[in-house]
Amino acid sequence: MKLLFMGPPGAGKGTQAKIICDDYKIPQISTGEILRAAVKNGTELGRQAQEFMNAGKLVPDEVVIGIVRERIKEPDASNGYILDGFPRTIEQARALDSMLEEMGQQLDVALNLDVPDEELIKRLLDRAQKDGRKDDTEPVIKNRLKVYNDQTHPLIEYYSKSGLLRSINGLGSMEEITARIRTTLKEVES
Ligand code: AMP
Repeated sequence: MKLLFMGPPGAGKGTQAKIICDDYKIPQISTGEILRAAVKNGTELGRQAQEFMNAGKLVPDEVVIGIVRERIKEPDASNGYILDGFPRTIEQARALDSMLEEMGQQLDVALNLDVPDEELIKRLLDRAQKDGRKDDTEPVIKNRLKVYNDQTHPLIEYYSKSGLLRSINGLGSMEEITARIRTTLKEVES
């Protein structure tokens, strides 16, 4: 199963991706987590990404495309993977299409978690208190939502045109949302 999780910041992509990865025994490839680890370890990649992340801006396309290009070639990704938080721009989606074509692979589904803005702000502020992520302050959250609406939201149309899009209602308990995702994936598999 090769799938990607789209959705605005705070939609629950990361949490749900972890659960579904466990179901299918496939790795979760989260560009956000890879970038946060690089910042923490003070690598060259981290140095390049840090300023963008702290401001709630997107890290340049070529940087994240390079990360994913390497990561999906790893042996643990040969049976499938979940791309969590990638692609986030049309440019990234096009790059992913050509990577997959080169590798003779195809995506099974692009899952979009649908959550209204007011609920997202509430959840993100909540997470800020719990995890202390540097990019979870109110002005940065607002910027991340704007970046999402301007740059990532157009991907819904992109994947809708290619017939891969499935939208999931992202309101409700974690368990309810997981159940909706599992049902959708069963439909995709059958
Ligand atoms: P996330 O954990 O997915 O919310 O990502 C946290 C931050 O990492 C984002 O606000 C961006 O600054 C950066 N980031 C993660 N994934 C991408 C991506 N696909 N393209 C550009 N920037 C990204």
